[in-house]
Amino acid sequence: MSGIYIHIPFCKQACHYCDFHFSTSMKKKEEMVLALSKELQLRMREFQNESVATIYFGGGTPSRLQIADLRFLITTIYENYTVVENPEITLEANPDDLSELYLLELKTIGVNRLSIGIQSFFEEDLQLMNRAHNSEEAKKCLEIASRYFDNISLDLIYGIPGMTNEKWLQNIETALSFGIPHISSYALTVEPKTALNKLIQTGKVASPKDEVAQEHFMILVETLEKNGFVHYELSNFGKENYFSQNNSAYWLGKKYIGIGPSAHSYDGDARSWNIANNTMYLKSIQNSELPSEAEILTQEDRYNEYIMTGLRTIWGVSLVRIEQEFGAKYLNYLKQQSQKFIADGLLSNTNEILKPTLRGKFLTDGIASDLFYLNLEKPNR
Ligand code: SF4
Repeated sequence: MSGIYIHIPFCKQACHYCDFHFSTSMKKKEEMVLALSKELQLRMREFQNESVATIYFGGGTPSRLQIADLRFLITTIYENYTVVENPEITLEANPDDLSELYLLELKTIGVNRLSIGIQSFFEEDLQLMNRAHNSEEAKKCLEIASRYFDNISLDLIYGIPGMTNEKWLQNIETALSFGIPHISSYALTVEPKTALNKLIQTGKVASPKDEVAQEHFMILVETLEKNGFVHYELSNFGKENYFSQNNSAYWLGKKYIGIGPSAHSYDGDARSWNIANNTMYLKSIQNSELPSEAEILTQEDRYNEYIMTGLRTIWGVSLVRIEQEFGAKYLNYLKQQSQKFIADGLLSNTNEILKPTLRGKFLTDGIASDLFYLNLEKPNR
């Protein structure tokens, strides 16, 4: 089973913290939709022996597209790929785009999962982040969306400057009040070259604090677990049967094709990525050339990726798999490197599965990088 990801590189306005690829001009929208469809056709051979189980419209903001555009892309997939009977079809959407009519039409074209970028229910947070919607729109859209869709995920951001623990808890409780079965939640991070970075450098916004983010994370885990959510990936919480099939497939190392500017793909041996520039992407696809670069994963890359995704997910890192797939050298290295984290109570080893403890969870990415294998004899690629 495999997945198709389609990157829609348009947004209404630039959120201050965002470093994804998008344009705020819709001028090239028609050309882009045609190019996405053409890339899907150019790459159909890559999935000749595969069935597509998940289709994911990400971005950018896919809900900037009209229903006819989305229908056209979904039809292109059905005409050129083998699709399983009930694929998961997810659309990332922003609250200000989700009118009742749009939601109804999404259902008719087969979209069965929504991932809504709420981020916060507080006006001051939304303004600080320069989100296009307001708090009222956030609530209204969830109220309408949950009438038509049961598989809804929403995004929330914690660690926002000025956000107290009480406010954060209120955000989580407001989300829960809509009966949503999946929540993705991330700490506000300051990426270089973003407006947020500039605002912090010039003293206009306070810097997010790690200690605050850690407290918010603990509140998040505790509150959602108490409400029946499974913490199945570091930033993702779902009720049983509502885990994202698309993202779980990434984390379990399944193949996927990424369509559109900046989209990444994985074929089981190599990763590739499309150019993150709309004009150059369009030109290349119009000439029937794929605007992508690729790298073959070395054994060390695979080991490092397995460590990262294993520790971030509920499935953990299996020492048996490490030995079978990578050999004794990697197993011994991992056992040695993980010792101090186990002794400090940040990692646990139960039945030969390594996982972060509750205290270690927030530090997962740092722990993983200490377990990475850094081979100094790595060949040039
Ligand atoms: S809507 Fe999403 S992709 Fe667009 S600027 Fe905001 S965070 Fe980035």
